Amino acid sequence: MNQFQYSRPADASVAIKTLSKDQNAYFLAGGTNLIDMMKMGLVSPQKLVDINNLPLKTVSEIPGGLRIGALVSNTNLAEHPLIKQKYPLLSLAINAGASPQLRNMATLGGNMMQRTRCPYFFDLTMPCNKRVPGSGCSALGGYNRMHAIFGASDKCIAVNPSDMNVAMVALDATVHISGAKGSRTMKFADFHRLPGDHPELDNNLKKGELITAVDLPEPRFSKNVHYVKIRDRASYAFALVSAAVALEIENDTIKEARLAMGGVAHKPWRLTAVEMFLKGKPANEAVFKQAAQLVSNGAKAYEYNKFKLKMAPNAVLQGLKVASGLASA
Ligand SMILES: Cc1cc2nc3c(=O)[nH]c(=O)nc-3n(C[C@H](O)[C@H](O)[C@H](O)COP(=O)(O)OP(=O)(O)OC[C@H]3O[C@@H](n4cnc5c(N)ncnc54)[C@H](O)[C@@H]3O)c2cc1C
Repeated sequence: MNQFQYSRPADASVAIKTLSKDQNAYFLAGGTNLIDMMKMGLVSPQKLVDINNLPLKTVSEIPGGLRIGALVSNTNLAEHPLIKQKYPLLSLAINAGASPQLRNMATLGGNMMQRTRCPYFFDLTMPCNKRVPGSGCSALGGYNRMHAIFGASDKCIAVNPSDMNVAMVALDATVHISGAKGSRTMKFADFHRLPGDHPELDNNLKKGELITAVDLPEPRFSKNVHYVKIRDRASYAFALVSAAVALEIENDTIKEARLAMGGVAHKPWRLTAVEMFLKGKPANEAVFKQAAQLVSNGAKAYEYNKFKLKMAPNAVLQGLKVASGLASA
């Protein structure tokens, strides 16, 4: 491993200043992604700024919602009474990811920032535009079973691997960011990027900016929710396809629907057209089947991931049935 400097400031402005000044400095949170990447030679930071002493570990009620500090661990978030009671979709999605040990270490900010699991990104002997811009995309003509069916480009077809991010997008969360030039907020849905011509950029965070918190809006979906994760093994595996479903049902009619998918795009993929289709319709199987037929509109598969064109609508259909109580999990 390359040598690096390590610091653990207690003040966010010191952490931000260090990162803004040094191109090759990284924030360190739980370390479950960054340290792996250092060991594999994917990144070689000269400076690690450990942010674990920053006061970003609380979940607190705010007017109209909830604020989650960026250092809240995935376990503490998924098991928090307010999350379980008011935002159970988030709890389900987080607990579908990784393993208990990893979730104990992993943080909200680190989960948002985790890199893709495309095997060519991890293989230093293969071209990858995300790892070495301009080198090419090995997945395009390679073994692309895990890859995107929505929003990909001819530069990159990798997917965002997070489960938590899918629920955050469905729940209309907002991200708080601090940088050397001040603070700003961004919709969670706008945080991650599509690859376009710059797949090396996973998200819209600027160099040196720190995620400080994520806000959840007023809880509307505390009852009819489900998170479907389809993967190669029952645990400790990334999603081939996942679906976060939240419904507000009144007198058997869908007042509001929120749907997002994971494992299908470079960012968590919100299904706005399907949500609009569902709004105002009866919550029954016939309607859910019609809605599921819309899921793969605009999708494009590659040689080895054509199965996702069917798996994606089936995951949404299952999610709708369980969320509405028509089927059990
Ligand atoms: C074997 C294995 C299986 C896994 N399975 C799953 C799974 O099924 N589903 C899933 O969702 N995830 C899975 N994960 C990924 C895991 O969730 C992430 O590794 C974890 O969430 C990263 O959080 P961290 O705090 O450890 O981040 P770190 O490793 O500390 O940091 C990751 C990146 O985020 C940056 N960063 C961290 N905090 C901030 C901040 N506040 N502001 C700005 N930048 C920041 C760091 O600089 C770094 O670039 C798996 C991981 C492993 C190793």
